Amino acid sequence: MARRRNMVKGQNMRLPYHTAGVKIQRSPICLGALIVTVFFLGGLYLHFSWRRYTQDASSQAMMVAQSLGSVLHSEHIAMFSGSMKDLELPEYDQCKKSLIRLVETTNPIHAANVMGQRDGRLILMVDSEAPGSASPSLPGQVYDQTDDVFWEPFRSGETILTDPVTDRRGEWISALVPIKDAMSEAVIAVFRVDYSAAEWFSHLRAQMIPDLMIVLCAFGLLGALLFIGDQRSLLKALNRQLAFDEALYHSVFDQVPVGIAILNDKSFVHQSEFGSMTINPMFEKIIGRTRQDLENVNWTDITHPEDLPAELEQFERFRSGDSSGYTMEKRFIRPDGSSVWTNMLISPFLSGEERSPLHICLLEDITVRRASEESFRESERSKSVLLSHLPGLAYRCHYDRQWTMQFISDGCLELTGYAPESLLYNKEHSFNDLIVPEFREALWMEWARILPQRRPFRFEYEIYTADHMRKWVLELGQGIYNAHGEVEALEGIIMDISDRKEMERRLRYIGEYDSWTGLRNRAYLENLLSVDNNRPSIHKRAVVCINLSSTQSVTTAFGFHYTLELIKKTASALEEYSTDSCMLFKTYENRFAYYIRGYGTQAELLQFCESVAGTLEHLLMPERVGGGIGVLEIDDEHPYDVDQLLKKVLIASEKAINSGDREFEICIYDAMLESQIDREHQINLELSEIALGEGNGGLFLQYQPILDFQSDQICGFEALARVRSDTLGLIPPLEFIPIAEKTRLIIPIGYKIISQALLFVRNLLVGGYETVSVAVNISIIQLLKDGFCDRLMEIVHEMQMDPSRVHLEITESVFAGDYEKINRVLWQLKNAGFHIAIDDFGTGFSSLAREGELNVDCLKIDKHFLDHLPLAQPDQSIIGDIISMAHKFGHSVVAEGVEHPLQKQYLKKCGCDKMQGYLLSKPLDEESAVGLLQRQGSAGNSRSNP
Ligand code: C2E
Ligand code: CA
Ligand code: CA
Repeated sequence: MARRRNMVKGQNMRLPYHTAGVKIQRSPICLGALIVTVFFLGGLYLHFSWRRYTQDASSQAMMVAQSLGSVLHSEHIAMFSGSMKDLELPEYDQCKKSLIRLVETTNPIHAANVMGQRDGRLILMVDSEAPGSASPSLPGQVYDQTDDVFWEPFRSGETILTDPVTDRRGEWISALVPIKDAMSEAVIAVFRVDYSAAEWFSHLRAQMIPDLMIVLCAFGLLGALLFIGDQRSLLKALNRQLAFDEALYHSVFDQVPVGIAILNDKSFVHQSEFGSMTINPMFEKIIGRTRQDLENVNWTDITHPEDLPAELEQFERFRSGDSSGYTMEKRFIRPDGSSVWTNMLISPFLSGEERSPLHICLLEDITVRRASEESFRESERSKSVLLSHLPGLAYRCHYDRQWTMQFISDGCLELTGYAPESLLYNKEHSFNDLIVPEFREALWMEWARILPQRRPFRFEYEIYTADHMRKWVLELGQGIYNAHGEVEALEGIIMDISDRKEMERRLRYIGEYDSWTGLRNRAYLENLLSVDNNRPSIHKRAVVCINLSSTQSVTTAFGFHYTLELIKKTASALEEYSTDSCMLFKTYENRFAYYIRGYGTQAELLQFCESVAGTLEHLLMPERVGGGIGVLEIDDEHPYDVDQLLKKVLIASEKAINSGDREFEICIYDAMLESQIDREHQINLELSEIALGEGNGGLFLQYQPILDFQSDQICGFEALARVRSDTLGLIPPLEFIPIAEKTRLIIPIGYKIISQALLFVRNLLVGGYETVSVAVNISIIQLLKDGFCDRLMEIVHEMQMDPSRVHLEITESVFAGDYEKINRVLWQLKNAGFHIAIDDFGTGFSSLAREGELNVDCLKIDKHFLDHLPLAQPDQSIIGDIISMAHKFGHSVVAEGVEHPLQKQYLKKCGCDKMQGYLLSKPLDEESAVGLLQRQGSAGNSRSNP
């Protein structure tokens, strides 16, 4: 109740009710009827009162007249003649005096007379007029003006009261009493009494006053009742409005998205003091605190410290009355420490009375707005930063041929040399004028292409700057469409990309040219080939690959720069042959290629290659650089893809390096070479299978015996690897070993060979041949493989063998490579107990002089020496010298490829230790080898432990 009272009070002060605005429900018809009825009844009442008074007055007047009339003696009146003669009669005089006395004594009678009739006319017989009056009435005087009503008593014999009648004396109401003859009862005269009409009516009116008062009171009462009813309705309506307003206020208070709180100075007003509606739910929600939380909190406690000083200043002005309220954007601190941005309005509350400390606070959560303002400011800021740092200009233009600019950023000046204003709305120049003419149409077409698809625009073109220079620019943009999907404008940026274009040009150069020689590179050739491959050609085409194989050794000997210079020299020598139809490329460090288009015959092509070979030989032979020239004629019917094509011509050049005696051989890639390559590929597959398979697959060993001259006994066997393939048959080691080396499959295959060979000697050992050894060929790849020595030892230990029974043959040519390193490995192996032999001695680069340094036990003189042994004069051979020199270093000597008994004889004579060759035996399978040993044993009985 208290709350409600307070509220109404508060509202009355702030928002006084206007009853005019309140609708009172009442029916105007009812009201009208009520008023009419009351008036009617009042009228009726007055009417009847009037009539009653009139009747009372009439009957009273008539009774008075009748009683007065009875005073007159009818026999006297009967005596009157109605003429002057009557004056003489004493009865006349008596009658007259009676009348005068009557009038004088009886109020309110003004006059009285007796009328008679004569000759059908009314005449005066006697009246109450005193003798000596100004106009005395005489007997017999005729009444001219009298109405018919005066005759009525004569006719009816009844007393009559007239309506007001006017004569020369005034207005009268007359009572007419018939005077009858005592005998005959005939009316002989009429006694008339006159009452003043004015007095008559005034008397009546006086009588009406109380009635009038009653009616007026009734009207007053009705009015009062109506007024009270009206006020009641008004009150009801006001009540209804109040209830509605309260309900509305409640729901608004609870649901309005504005926080409302009533504050008392710096604290929040609570339920107990002013009812419950002091803080609404939205206020609680915005500041993140409940009404209870706010009980012991001042608004200053939960205001963001940065906003507090400004607010306190405003609040002080408000409190002191200098301002009527204030609005500000401020932050409140929520309990979790976060802050919420609000728009706050403070205004006085209940200010109609004495100065109240209460005020109302309205809050709006503007966090989202602030955030979006912040992000808008941020985006505006970054936009301006972006625009000011944009390496070019930003624009908005019409989609027209002139590219009419609606907006153009300041960057225009730096990019084009023109001030932005000069281009706005084509003021001095249109942007189209700036575009280099050959790009104009393409630019237009590109926009026309992307706009219907609503895709981003990107185009690179050149413009003319104000100082007539060309400049590369990149335009990025997009169409702006209206609601109908029509292009309204174009927006985008145009940037200077001249640096990038220059870089691209350089990169293209680097990508397509060899920086050292200035020749086009492999990528260029590949590109050209693929372009030409994809279009019909009427010319014959060929690629010639020049492969300088041995530049590596030049580098090793003379250094990198020397080789580079040599390559440069070669490039310029080769360029002499370069024409439009014979383009020269540098495809790799030490490789060149000609791409020849439109040559005549293959012979012509070969002729060209010969000339090139001649030039190269002339230039490079003194440098000990050789190479090969590979030729590939492109079959336009079935062209290889570029990669294959270049690979094949490279293969041809490598083939050329390895074939023939000339420094620069020429090899045409043809069907034979192709089949060779196929075979190589096939062998490779076989080798992979062997390397990866469980057992030995097609791999097996043959053993060639070695004869010791001293004991004339077989002292050992050389294990020679063989591969038998289902498709290719028996593959010789000279074919598959290089392939295995190239693919490094020789490493796993090598271990398999070693194991097999060791098993062979182990079997011999078991068979009692304890001194027989086995020699295994080891390729350089195996030798240099990390952990080779360890792995070898492992195998030897697994088989419980003595390493001294295992001879390792390393071909002499490998010493041309990393001599030191190889020698170190050999030393390791030798230390481990293995027996090391230099195979094919005399064919490689190792000189006899170095032999002493090598960590080897034995030299195997190559078959080549024996082949050239002049059997007629064997003393001229150097074999003897080699043997004696080897012996000096403590190395034993084995001669290989002994086919002839004379050779054996000679070797024996020279002191050679051992021999191997067809003369003794071809390589044998294991069984035959054992058989040979057995036969020798039974023949020479040389088995050390039979
Ligand atoms: P190499 O080590 O010089 O082997 C000797 C080669 O000469 C063998 O050829 C052998 O059959 C042949 N030969 C022996 N005596 C005579 C003769 O009196 N007259 C003629 N004309 N030839 C004779 P093969 O077996 O074809 O081996 C060729 C080469 O293959 C071997 O030359 C060796 O370098 C390599 N090789 C063979 N097996 C292996 C192996 O297991 N590992 C490695 N790395 N290379 C091997
Ligand atoms: Ca050998
Ligand atoms: Ca050999």
